Amino acid sequence: RAKGAGKNQYCVYSEDMGFQELRKMELEKDLYLALDNEQFYLVYQPRWNVKENGLAGWEALIRWNHPRLGVISPYEFIPIAEETGLIVPITRWTLKQASLQCREWHSRGVKQPVSVNLSVRLFQTESLQEMVQSTLKEADLDPLWMELEITESMVLHDIHEIIAQVESIRSMGVKFAMDDFGTGYSSIGLLDRIPLDTLKLDRLFTNNLEIPTKRGIISAIIMMAENLELEIVAEGVENQEHVDFLMQLGCHVMQGYYYGRPMGIEEIEEWMKQRSIL
Ligand code: C2E
Ligand code: MG
Ligand code: MG
Ligand code: MG
Repeated sequence: RAKGAGKNQYCVYSEDMGFQELRKMELEKDLYLALDNEQFYLVYQPRWNVKENGLAGWEALIRWNHPRLGVISPYEFIPIAEETGLIVPITRWTLKQASLQCREWHSRGVKQPVSVNLSVRLFQTESLQEMVQSTLKEADLDPLWMELEITESMVLHDIHEIIAQVESIRSMGVKFAMDDFGTGYSSIGLLDRIPLDTLKLDRLFTNNLEIPTKRGIISAIIMMAENLELEIVAEGVENQEHVDFLMQLGCHVMQGYYYGRPMGIEEIEEWMKQRSIL
């Protein structure tokens, strides 16, 4: 048993180790090989401007096609990638892929930005700025078309260090978005300290729009974001009712299943063709 095992005893797992822990161990072991074995791929979810009735960008979301377990959600493997440090090479790959894909769509006449999610762990590697710069250069994508999504959980880290890095990356022209805003450590104070371009309202808000008191809070957040000159994007928009409420509150850029799920390249190209975008 793992707990009772002496220091020098070889112990891979214990009988009472739960299924979850075993799965995590297996995923961790396999994650080291996943990049080399080309098991990652990106799906893209459209961002939609309702006012202009048009595409406003794509968010790149990573998937892991595990050889035995099938497609694994980033909710499951990103934390493991963070713990092991593998998040660094994985993010480098993601930035490059997303940039290449964005560039390709640009060359076919669809000029929109692409968003990539950054884990806070990336800010602890001093080379983040270099990583962003070199991947954009390799893909020949103008930094103006790249948006990086960060989350509020970074308040737990050295905020001065993060602000300095955001500033240096942003000076290249790259945009920054606060993702999942309103969840977790929701600190409004962060908003005027970190130089941001976009505020993404967490889908929890979108799902609570039916509740009048919640609507008041969302309305206040939207007004505040407007004052800070941030673009507001609502996440988790799933139906026309959500759209109507958000429009009333002054938010007209949306992302969610109602407009489009995260899709593979072929599927999203079909989606764009159907809407005469591509
Ligand atoms: P996120 O960045 O907030 O991405 C939005 C998530 O909500 C996506 O889940 C998307 O599929 C889902 N979603 C979109 N529209 C709707 C909707 O209308 N209803 C509902 N119920 N869900 C919706 P996904 O793709 O599983 O990604 C989960 C999270 O994993 C992301 O949340 C992001 O934090 C993280 N993630 C994804 N790709 C990457 C990556 O390349 N790097 C890093 N560091 N994190 C990533
Ligand atoms: Mg995101
Ligand atoms: Mg989000
Ligand atoms: Mg979210």
